Amino acid sequence: MKHKVIIEPFKIKMVEPISMSSEKERIKYLKQANYNTFLLKSDEVIIDFLTDSGTSAMSAEQWGGVMIGDESYAGSRSWLKMEAAVKNLTGHKYILPTHQGRAAERIIYGYLGGNGKTFISNTHFDTTRANIEFSGAEALDIAIPESNDPALIHPFKGNIDVERLDKLIKEKGAENIGAVILTVTNNSGGGQPVSMKNTRDVSAICKKHNVLFLLDCCRVAENAYFIKDREEGFENKTYEEIAQEMFSYTDGSAMSAKKDALVNMGGFLSLRDKKIADACTNLLIITEGFATYGGLSGRDMEALAIGLKEVFDPSYLEYRIKSTAYLGNKLHEMGVPVMMPIGGHAVYIDAKKLYSHIPVNQYPGQALVCELYLKAGIRTVEIGSVMFGKYDKNGELIPAPMELVRLAIPRRVYTQSHIEYVIETFEEILKTKDQTVGIKIVEEPEFLRHFTAKFDKVQSESVIA
Ligand SMILES: *Cc1c(COP(=O)(O)O)cnc(C)c1O
Repeated sequence: MKHKVIIEPFKIKMVEPISMSSEKERIKYLKQANYNTFLLKSDEVIIDFLTDSGTSAMSAEQWGGVMIGDESYAGSRSWLKMEAAVKNLTGHKYILPTHQGRAAERIIYGYLGGNGKTFISNTHFDTTRANIEFSGAEALDIAIPESNDPALIHPFKGNIDVERLDKLIKEKGAENIGAVILTVTNNSGGGQPVSMKNTRDVSAICKKHNVLFLLDCCRVAENAYFIKDREEGFENKTYEEIAQEMFSYTDGSAMSAKKDALVNMGGFLSLRDKKIADACTNLLIITEGFATYGGLSGRDMEALAIGLKEVFDPSYLEYRIKSTAYLGNKLHEMGVPVMMPIGGHAVYIDAKKLYSHIPVNQYPGQALVCELYLKAGIRTVEIGSVMFGKYDKNGELIPAPMELVRLAIPRRVYTQSHIEYVIETFEEILKTKDQTVGIKIVEEPEFLRHFTAKFDKVQSESVIA
């Protein structure tokens, strides 16, 4: 019999209680957090869809690995296992361990960046952009035009626009390009995959101009699932082989292992070029740690090496992608405007469309984030003008291309009934959408403002009562 229901391919051996709350309590908690869900305490949250980063449940084998982690300062056994696992995946010669993705980014983009340099990506993730801009360089996003239409179905909506890439490199001068970065899957662009063909094309353009080509490979296993499922010629390849082929076209990669390596902390930088690797290793030692641990405990490296293998297990990946699609497709059928097709690690709601009565300078995405929390204790994040908006000379908002809300699904953490609870909440969101009001920013920092900004409702006290 072929079942329609995709069951979680694991049993639960250890449980973590959720602290339940009432709507009245949540009104208070959200006010205290200045309407910024990053400022909530986790005990004030029922379903935490803030991020899939570092929130995975580790397997029994990974926890077993934690116990045999080798905490030696130099040449740790656990490092050797991690290095072998990363080399096997990337095929790159030089592997630098880092405590998370942005540490790898600060090192590589600090080294390659600086005034006058340009980086080009399908979409730079927020920490990637921040590290590049902090170095003085500019970060340009050139995903294919289809990626900006949330309703449009395209199998590889994460692809970069290769024609524009070629033109941009010529325009800026190849010597001024810090690197071309493909983000797989394209997190900020909706968790949409990048095709192998696109990767090959980018590689050819970079080779032609002698420009460095890097992979931001946080979700390379999820991306491999989509390639096997949607791109011709990969039906009989394993997910791991597909990922390995993708890396084979690149000069290096940065990974936040908090995503597809199924660990709570960790990351790495991988490089082919010795000169760049040597310079980066110096930077690593100054701020992260010695080259055989880079800020990680031996036990973390042990768990990372195991996670990097587990993530390519076909039953895991099938459950992962199909359970995310289950939530997304249900919302779509109910009439919630979601980004289509459903991405790998998250469901993205098109808040501009849902709340068409809220202007973009009143942040419809942040309004939905607040509603989801108040109604059900569901914590999500805005990926729109709060995260990516800029100001012009007159202080007017230059909005982001889309106003999305991301429901990021932690790996192996929530069961189907948790998901049903979320679906039920959206019925109420739809019923009350016309009463929902916009949000204003009261206080904000210069970089990565979504983490710490303070907000308020535009007409406070109206809908929440
Ligand atoms: C999470 C993430 C990063 C940054 O990694 P951290 O571990 O959070 O520092 C970079 N790029 C992408 C695409 C990500 O999803």
